[in-house]
Amino acid sequence: MIYLDHAATTAVHPEVFQEMYPFFMQMYANPSAAYEFGRDAKIMLQCVRETIAESIHARPEEIYFTSGGTEADNWALIGIAEVMKAKGKHIITSSIEHHAILRTCHYLEKRGFLVTYLPVNENGEISLEDLEKAIRPDTILISIMFANNEIGTVMPVKQIGKLAKKHHIIFHTDAVQAYLHEKIDVKEMQIDLLSASGHKFQGPKGVGFLYVRDGIRLSSFLHGGSQERKKRAGTENVPGIVGLGKAAAIGIRDFEKNHLHLLAMQKYLTEQITKQIPDCKVNGLAAKHLDNNLSLSFPFLEAASLIALLDMEQIYISAGSACNSSETKISHVLQAIGMPKEMARGTIRISLGAENTMEEMKYFVKRLVFLAEQLRMFSEENSIAPKTSVRQRDL
Ligand code: PLP
Repeated sequence: MIYLDHAATTAVHPEVFQEMYPFFMQMYANPSAAYEFGRDAKIMLQCVRETIAESIHARPEEIYFTSGGTEADNWALIGIAEVMKAKGKHIITSSIEHHAILRTCHYLEKRGFLVTYLPVNENGEISLEDLEKAIRPDTILISIMFANNEIGTVMPVKQIGKLAKKHHIIFHTDAVQAYLHEKIDVKEMQIDLLSASGHKFQGPKGVGFLYVRDGIRLSSFLHGGSQERKKRAGTENVPGIVGLGKAAAIGIRDFEKNHLHLLAMQKYLTEQITKQIPDCKVNGLAAKHLDNNLSLSFPFLEAASLIALLDMEQIYISAGSACNSSETKISHVLQAIGMPKEMARGTIRISLGAENTMEEMKYFVKRLVFLAEQLRMFSEENSIAPKTSVRQRDL
């Protein structure tokens, strides 16, 4: 098989699995236990906290383990909203955030908060001018993603941080897709809160972290025991956290090598596909962009059909355009960048991983071009307009 859906999830790295393994059946003690067996688990958690902190230039006490990106995003927004509501109830975000942010904003709106959803340009970038104009005396939080999960656009995070500081507003960024693909320095970028998720970088599923800058007040998210400095109760997912730490360590170790390899594959795919299918449109690549994402729109086909044909050959990609259940609905990201419906329906997302090879890229291009041209011929012969039947994947 050829797996090209790493923005959805990744395989656990063999070294990560090996590192996690003893924590299921041998070193299974509760880190809160007073005996040495438990203390060993606690020490392990501390080591991971240090590794994660170092990877974003933070301090270990500023890292909180969560069950993944969704929880980190929910906690950041709700935690700040609760603590800051006396000061103000206005939040600024972008219109292309992941649903973990957008639906948390909707939740807060129902509880009396006001949210501004900044528009983006055709490449998926917000305008800093729009952002500054949106700031009001009661703005308490700016939450703008580091990089978009559908079209790969990297936002001007450093400039957003600078603006937020200038206006004394807390700045959160969802870095689930960017972590270990982009260099992140929370101090230099003036980021107050940052979310990341293990399964996007060869760690296990169901574990992630939230960075909270020292001095930022955030309400507790889960109530119960004293874990995570009484902010997030519940016995820690020790094997998961160990895996998270190992995956981060490997990602840091291999950063440059992976980055160059991913860029080379991305460049090859872009050049070859646009050369062989000239009416195919590349999305977001004109802006600062992730090294592993390629979003392509084919005006003459239905992405669901192309995905299904590739699926039959065990080649896995995802739709850039998606809908919820059976209801036809174009992805909010493609809508926000102003893409016409027909084009959005023919949009695919290819997301690469370090373990992909150039040989896979060559084979993939051949199959993609062949199948896309078959679909073009089919729709021309039958003069049918492409229609959407893509499942929402929200990934
Ligand atoms: N934020 C972004 C940008 C994502 O791409 C995802 C997952 O696809 C999430 C948040 C949610 O992360 P998790 O799957 O760990 O809950």
